[in-house]
Amino acid sequence: MQTITILGATGSIGQSTLDVVARHPDDFRVFAITGHRQVELLVKQAKACHARYLVVASDDDYEQALTLARQYELSSEVLSGKRALEEVASAPEVDAVMASIVGAAGLEPTLAAVKAGKRVLLANKESLVMSGALFIDAAKQSGAEILPIDSEHNAIFQCLPADFEYGNLAASGISKILLTGSGGPFRERELATFAEITPEQACAHPNWDMGRKISVDSATMMNKGLEFIEACWLFGLAPDDIQVVLHPQSTIHSMVQYIDGSVIAQLGNPDMRTPIAYGLGYPRRINAGVAPLDFATLKDLSFSTPDQNRFPNLYLAIDACRSGQSATTRLNAANEIAVDAFLNNRIGFTRIAQINEEVLNRFEPTAVSSIQQVLELDKQARMVALALVEEG
Ligand code: NAD
Ligand code: MG
Repeated sequence: MQTITILGATGSIGQSTLDVVARHPDDFRVFAITGHRQVELLVKQAKACHARYLVVASDDDYEQALTLARQYELSSEVLSGKRALEEVASAPEVDAVMASIVGAAGLEPTLAAVKAGKRVLLANKESLVMSGALFIDAAKQSGAEILPIDSEHNAIFQCLPADFEYGNLAASGISKILLTGSGGPFRERELATFAEITPEQACAHPNWDMGRKISVDSATMMNKGLEFIEACWLFGLAPDDIQVVLHPQSTIHSMVQYIDGSVIAQLGNPDMRTPIAYGLGYPRRINAGVAPLDFATLKDLSFSTPDQNRFPNLYLAIDACRSGQSATTRLNAANEIAVDAFLNNRIGFTRIAQINEEVLNRFEPTAVSSIQQVLELDKQARMVALALVEEG
């Protein structure tokens, strides 16, 4: 029996996690679930999974949460605020934490779980992109086990040898990590029409059903860029160790290429419950409720290289990865502001990458040695990005 906390339970990953957990009532006990804004959904979830604590991220939502908790005759205790998020992520009773808050808001609660030495099921890629070495060092110090939930990194994890040594590809006879991505909804759209793209079009991913921020990131391929950086930190890779491969069907979730000519791939239907179940059950395999791949009806698998003109954000992120921590922290912050502005119809689709690039160009790379500094860099980059949004 594992006791778990789900940070960001009301989101796409959070809901899929609760779905897998509900299939295994004898294996998992829910300690706490957290959410932001969708209070009624959170209360219903707490009721269904018998969470001991329900946490709303903002104190503004506390009264509403209490009222609804009474209305639903909830037995969970209701808490609110940033500190409470960190507490339920690090409480001694908790074995594993699903880190599935979106964006920089996930950094501190995820780090609290890492520092407390939990098994951390990492979906919140932004926290690792923002804090890189600090995050990994904190895990080494506390003994926290980081299990990748992002489907590509989960696939790579599954394709690596069991005795893989962090950062040492040569020792395992690995020549390349092949990071696959579908190319999103605009892989073939006429480039001249990109300025007219609407939030609804950008959020309509052909293969995956996800939250709005990551959906836009998938459409610009910033998501693949963030994943490139995420892979470097998770496995100790250098940028040259990774090749990004377009694979529109999202059947292969990533691959590891070995020096003897072998390539090991992980395949499956595009359903996040597979990597989530892998993380929850690890090292055991548990039922995820995912339909098996049907090789009788499987369509062609195709591959190509992403075009730089179509996906400038991907290449900005790879450059930032080469530049170092301060650049990736700033890029992540700028991108969050730009994507939010796009989703609120304040800027056009092509402006996202322009703002990201302009923010990066405003600053010189600096060494990063504390989380305090990460938060400061994040704040500065957001201010510059917001000013650029104002300009339109
Ligand atoms: P989502 O928008 O559906 O859900 C986000 C969750 O975070 C919600 O529970 C929301 O209440 C919470 N949240 C939002 N703002 C918050 C704040 N300020 N403070 C505290 N909580 C806040 O997002 P998602 O698609 O589930 O993605 C979650 C994370 O997982 C992201 O980092 C994303 O990149 C990653 N991820 C998602 C998928 C996917 O298929 N959805 C796949 C791989 C990785
Ligand atoms: Mg992914």
